[in-house]
Amino acid sequence: MNIISNIKTTGCETAPVLRERGQREVFCGLTSIVWLHRKIQDAFFLVVGSRTCAHLVQSAAGVMIFAEPRFATAIIDERDLAGLADIDDELDRVVNRLLERRPEIKMLFLVGSCPSEVIKLDLKRAASRLNREHLPNVRVLNYSGSGIETTFTQGEDACLASLAEDLPKYTGKANLVIAGSLPDAVEDQFTRYLKEMGIDVSFLPGRRSNAMPAVGPNTVFLMAQPFLGDTARVLKEKGATALQAPFPFGAEGTTLWLKAAATHFGVLDTVFEKITSAPRQRAELALSKFKKSLGGKSIFFFPDSQLELPLARFASRELDMKLVEVGTPYLHTQHMAQELALLPAGTMLSEGQDVDKQLDRCRAARPDITVCGLGLANPLEAEGLTTKWSIELVFSPIHGYEQAGDLAGLFARPIARSERLAV
Ligand code: SF4
Repeated sequence: MNIISNIKTTGCETAPVLRERGQREVFCGLTSIVWLHRKIQDAFFLVVGSRTCAHLVQSAAGVMIFAEPRFATAIIDERDLAGLADIDDELDRVVNRLLERRPEIKMLFLVGSCPSEVIKLDLKRAASRLNREHLPNVRVLNYSGSGIETTFTQGEDACLASLAEDLPKYTGKANLVIAGSLPDAVEDQFTRYLKEMGIDVSFLPGRRSNAMPAVGPNTVFLMAQPFLGDTARVLKEKGATALQAPFPFGAEGTTLWLKAAATHFGVLDTVFEKITSAPRQRAELALSKFKKSLGGKSIFFFPDSQLELPLARFASRELDMKLVEVGTPYLHTQHMAQELALLPAGTMLSEGQDVDKQLDRCRAARPDITVCGLGLANPLEAEGLTTKWSIELVFSPIHGYEQAGDLAGLFARPIARSERLAV
């Protein structure tokens, strides 16, 4: 079966969206250090923040007993407000000591946070001051992981946008960059398919500081994650062009995403089909097993990771699940255009959050599974609702053909557990 010819758009592009502003329940962008420090293997993330930030990073990322961690918090106390120049000196001292002790660090991110004493610090200036001292051995970049008006995946967006600003200029013939941090195994799979199609690909972020892609007017990029609005903007400012595609979740999403690249690079349909048909069929087979248990089950997405729309499209189209409400922190209609077109007509979409009202809607609907942040999951479980932590969907390898079954499993397991407990 040629899946491309069977795609039916259902047209949710013009559906009304419930926009809410009120109390929100989200983690801040510092959380993304948990997966970013594993991805860029010679980078170090120095959070400039408060004790709260230190607790968050430490408890989310855990303590490495056998390896030296590649993240830490420089705690800025209130007493430091007395002299900002002193803080600059203190920060330089901390960084110099760190780089002396850890010569394997080749890229250092100064990560801002939201306490008022940190907001006053000019970390951009601090980064350029430290670069004068440490380049070419270590590159110092800065971004904000602040929790004010952001959600946790925006930490990755801010990090990659700062990296993108710094990328070398690409002047060769057409190249493809995939933006968004992916597990190495998933990157390897995508690299293999694209190489077989004759397309050279590089990833942002690269696995090491010296393996970042070059970008220029001949660059096209595919977003692997839907939460990279700022990164996309910087890449475009550097002359790159975005390829529009749904995100690579499930057999259908992965096929359409790869097809966007194949079409741009003039890959013949027969070649595309030959390379993708076997893994696509494996994914479809894996999904067919889950469809039996998940088909007809209802799912409610609270706004958290910004993965909600692509995951809802996957759940509805590839698992036959019923979408009760699809909440997203922000609805970027341009990046989401292809996802919106594939959602069932009449899908209840909401943007932003007024958490009490949304909880009331969720309780009234009593969905079979609710995808939400950690802070809402336990109370909802206590009320007898089945939940899935949205952050787990960011940590887990869920992109691509070979992971499609695992992604379905993340929804199926909590439902199966609840059903077993109910008998
Ligand atoms: S950045 Fe702000 S929201 Fe995040 S841990 Fe620090 S104080 Fe809390």
